[in-house]
Amino acid sequence: MRKLNPVLATEREYIVERGKDQRISEYYGEDTFNISVAKAKLPKEVFKKFTNIINDRRVLDIDTANSVAHAMKEWALEKGATHFAHWFQPMTGLTAEKHDAFIEHAPDGKVIERFSGKQLVQGEPDASSFPSGGIRATFEARGYTAWDMSSPAFIRRNGIATTLTIPTAFISYTGEALDKKTPLLRSIAAVNKSGLKALKSINKNDSKRLTSNGGPEQEYFLIDQDYFYKRQDLVLSGRTLMGAAPAKGQQLDDQYFGAIKERVQSFMHDLEEELFKLGIPAKTRHNEVAPSQFELAPIYEEGNVAADHNQIIMETIKMTAKSHGLAALLNEKPFAGLNGSGKHLNWSISDDQGFNFFNPGNNPATNIPFLLFLAGVIKGVHKNGDIIRATVASAGNDHRLGANEAPPAILSIFLGDQLSQILDDIEQGKITKTEDAEKINLGSHNLAVLDKDATDRNRTSPFAFTGNKFEFRALGSAQSISTPATVLNLVLAEALDEIADMIDAKNLDTDEAVYSVIRDILKESKSVLFSGDNYSEDWEVEAAKRGLPNNKTTPEALRALDSDKARAIFKKYDVLSHVELKSRYFIKLERYVSDIEIEAKTVCNMARTSIIPACLKYQEGLAASISSTESILGDSMDLSAQICGLKFVAENINSLYSRLKELGELIEKSSNIHEEQERADYFCFKVKAKMNETREIIDTLETVVDDELWPIPKFWEMLFIN
Ligand code: ADP
Ligand code: MG
Repeated sequence: MRKLNPVLATEREYIVERGKDQRISEYYGEDTFNISVAKAKLPKEVFKKFTNIINDRRVLDIDTANSVAHAMKEWALEKGATHFAHWFQPMTGLTAEKHDAFIEHAPDGKVIERFSGKQLVQGEPDASSFPSGGIRATFEARGYTAWDMSSPAFIRRNGIATTLTIPTAFISYTGEALDKKTPLLRSIAAVNKSGLKALKSINKNDSKRLTSNGGPEQEYFLIDQDYFYKRQDLVLSGRTLMGAAPAKGQQLDDQYFGAIKERVQSFMHDLEEELFKLGIPAKTRHNEVAPSQFELAPIYEEGNVAADHNQIIMETIKMTAKSHGLAALLNEKPFAGLNGSGKHLNWSISDDQGFNFFNPGNNPATNIPFLLFLAGVIKGVHKNGDIIRATVASAGNDHRLGANEAPPAILSIFLGDQLSQILDDIEQGKITKTEDAEKINLGSHNLAVLDKDATDRNRTSPFAFTGNKFEFRALGSAQSISTPATVLNLVLAEALDEIADMIDAKNLDTDEAVYSVIRDILKESKSVLFSGDNYSEDWEVEAAKRGLPNNKTTPEALRALDSDKARAIFKKYDVLSHVELKSRYFIKLERYVSDIEIEAKTVCNMARTSIIPACLKYQEGLAASISSTESILGDSMDLSAQICGLKFVAENINSLYSRLKELGELIEKSSNIHEEQERADYFCFKVKAKMNETREIIDTLETVVDDELWPIPKFWEMLFIN
């Protein structure tokens, strides 16, 4: 399966679009219809009106919509666009788009380019083929897309096609959210409302509007595209479903932050150029822990825009990889035995003045707004850890959470020494003023003196305070950040709402009231705080004692969405109605079942049609060799060791046949199970388990069968030849 000469980007003829002399700042955002383009393209009055509408969250009137649509179209035509597309995020977790040409009939049998305000604001893609979890029967197929003015429209180039792409929300005819953006926007509204109420309770009235921010760190693998297409499992399920561990994995720790290979760096350069054009602040790039694993982190942005941008980042990673002869793997666990890929969602809440409520400042002990929000996070995460866990549940992510490479499925909060100390002090009624930020002296005149962060790193915590934000680390690499961000906003909104009432009820001086409320919250929620090693077995035991949920698999985790507690909180803050929540629960269960079913069927196909034939050929060769050797040498030599080797192969082939038969039967029987949760449990505990048994045998055979005969690329080839 080896391909001996991987093509390097420098050997490849590809058009370098930009001269070396152009700076990022000169072309950043050139493919987005941002505020400065709007200003240049719109009449002065209209521009003013339009920005006021956006800033005050008002409804767009049709005249303004028509003007903006016209300006957008003119701009898009200059960029070479022929079509516009409403772009949305259905419950598939991917994005969807429906394209329409700008054309309209003209009297002389010709066409003219036109784009109306109505077309900009509203679209009507048929919704029947998107997952809806029972919200719509297919005969009520109507769905609407509605323009999201807060996320800039952009130009998408794909091959020779150029399209004006408009971020939209996606809702049903009856007004239910069918997408991931709508609940996110609603959760931002909820945290705004509760946050302002809580700030009022401490007499801080200078914030007009609050929003949540997201900075998602995106991990991914890159392998040579040839290998990718030779693996049915990668093509169909996104991960390798078989494959023996290579002798060299990540044990030398030589990949993390290592020098980036030329081919990969060229890929990254192209990727970032694309992202910069789209106004996506791709800031950081580096090698990750596993071989051929990498990370990209943008500068954080307002939560809704960050979610859109993360989807674009994932799509652009895949597209750009192709043009470099590479395949990008975004699945959470492409290679068993090596680190999987996650996504860290860095999350904070700030106001219209840019004030970050998670910034502890120099003296967190007396920073009352900070303490208020910190208390909200502790309260909200403690109460709703199971719901937060459910937002990151997926078949792929099950391979990471709790597999000692990623945070466990137990949700706890890491605060670091300084904040833990402050909370202890508050608990005991003594407030201390901390010293100003410490410095780290590196002991050399040539090295700058560094500021020391308020917290050291704890890489094992699923939810860590990291200086001026929380880092939620349990997301899978392929997941949209929308739902986790939605739920974080939501649980904070509820907590702040309740905290405001608690403060009011105390009838104390503001600071005293907040300290007193924090004491109450710690009494109730302290068990969610943990600073030790989250990967250890001790922690699992300890967490169970503390009563923290530990839902290791997706079907177990999703149950949290089907609870009175979940229904109440989503409904109370208008983020999801009962119907919308139920539909999401079903969609996630169905998705899980489909993922495992695809994997199991793929294992069967690959094993039957390529692995077994190769193994039989090898067996035949061994048998022929032994019998011809025996016929020449007769009794003069003992061939039992060779016969033993043949037996080993034959036995494993036998076992493989048996496991495949059982796996096939299990898949077939699944059609008798109709209840969604039961089906998911069945696929998790029966089908997946059998699939793993099957895989073990295949991996054993891989280590003995002739390398020349092995029909699919091996791990070491995919991971180290690039
Ligand atoms: P790390 O060392 O964990 O990679 P970085 O400082 O590089 O930390 O930040 C990681 C991500 O967190 C980046 O996307 C960054 O923009 C984002 N980030 C930084 N500050 C905030 C904040 N206040 N709110 C949300 N995200 C933030
Ligand atoms: Mg980080």
